[in-house]
Amino acid sequence: MPLFDYHCDQCGQTFTELRKGEQKDQPIDCPSCGSTQTQRLVTSFALGGQGGSTSKTASPGCGSGGFS
Ligand SMILES: [Zn+2]
Repeated sequence: MPLFDYHCDQCGQTFTELRKGEQKDQPIDCPSCGSTQTQRLVTSFALGGQGGSTSKTASPGCGSGGFS
């Protein structure tokens, strides 16, 4: 089961819950104040999404012609 981050609008608490994928958008109680005024935070599950993505494209491709 994936982890989802939630933010409580009532007390401002941010917490992480382990839930099923189909339950991710269902309301959840804040563990701090018990409020249901929570919303899911959008988190990026793709690792390495941020940072230097230096893809070396050293293929000359077309353009280095001249063979005649
Ligand atoms: Zn709360």
